[in-house]
Amino acid sequence: MKKLCVIGDPIDHSLSPVIQNAMIAAAGLDFAYGACRVAGAETARWLARAKAEGYGGFNATMPHKENLVPLVDELDREARQLGAVNTVAIRGGVAYGYNTDGRGFLRALVEAGMGPAGKDVLVLGAGGAARAVVHKLVEAGAETVVANRTVERAEKLCAEFGATACDFSAQTLSEYAAKSDLVVNCTNLGMTGVAGQFEDLSFLECLPAHAGVYDLIYSPRKTALLERAERLGLQNSNGLGMLIWQGVFALEHFADETLDEAALGAAARAALEGLE
Ligand code: NAP
Repeated sequence: MKKLCVIGDPIDHSLSPVIQNAMIAAAGLDFAYGACRVAGAETARWLARAKAEGYGGFNATMPHKENLVPLVDELDREARQLGAVNTVAIRGGVAYGYNTDGRGFLRALVEAGMGPAGKDVLVLGAGGAARAVVHKLVEAGAETVVANRTVERAEKLCAEFGATACDFSAQTLSEYAAKSDLVVNCTNLGMTGVAGQFEDLSFLECLPAHAGVYDLIYSPRKTALLERAERLGLQNSNGLGMLIWQGVFALEHFADETLDEAALGAAARAALEGLE
C-alpha cells in the first residue's frame, strides 16, 4: 500500500483526505491518504521522514508550499515559475515537486463555462493563490488586471507574469469591472473564520451582463460576493472545482499515470456533497 498525506499547520480543516480517499477508491488504487500537522520550521525534517518511512508522496498547504522549493530533488517547470510546491511525489527515494493549483483552477474555470482565452479578467488579490491563477490566465491568453490592497505586491506579481496592477479602491474596481468579462476573487475576503468581508460590492454592478465571477473560496459555499453576482444574474462559481481538480492532478502524480479524470472528479464531488 502506498502511503500518502497532506501536511500543513493548521491541518484539521483540510478536505484533501476526503477528496483523495474518494478518488483512490474510485480508481481502485492501493493507496491510503491521511493528514499530518507539520509546523513551518519542520518542512525539511518532514521530507526526510517521508522518504525514510516510504511515503509515496504528499500534498502541502500553508506554510510549506514555498519552503519545499529548495528542498525537493526535482522541481517541475510550473512549480519553479510559481515558487511554490503543492504536490511531492516520492519515487525511488527521489522527491519530485509539482504545483497543480494553476491547472486545477483553469480546469475548474473551463468546467464552469468561464474559460479565459481572449477575455479581460480582473483578479482580486495578489497572494499565493493569485500567483497560480494569474500565471494560468496570462498563459491562456487573458488580458489580466490584478487589484490588491498592497499595490506593491500586485505590481511585483504583474511584472513577473505580464499583467497590469492596480489598487483595491471601490472606484478602481468599478472602472476595471466595466471592461472585464470575468472577475476572480483570490483574496481571503468572505472566507469562513476570516474576519474580513468586502466593504463594497457595487463594482459587480459595473460588469457587463455576460461576465462571470469565480471565487476561489469554497467555505462558505456561497460567499457574499457570489450571492451578489447571482442576484445580478451573473454566471458564478465557488472554488470547490479548483480544489477538486488540483487534487485529481496530484493523484496522477502520485500514481505516475494518467487516470480517468472525469470519474475521479465525480467521486470527489460526491464525497464533498456527502459532507454538506
Ligand atoms: P494569501 O497568500 O494570504 O493572500 C491573501 C490575499 O487576500 C492577499 O492579496 C491580501 O492582500 C488579500 N486580503 C486579505 N485581507 C484583505 C482585506 N481585509 N482587504 C483586502 N484584501 C485582503 O492567501 P492565499 O493562499 O492566496 O489564499 C487566498 C484565498 O484563496 C483563501 O481564501 C484560500 O482559501 C483560497 N484558495 C482556494 C483554493 C482552492 O483550491 N479553491 C486554493 C488556494 C487558495 P494583501 O497582499 O494586501 O495582504
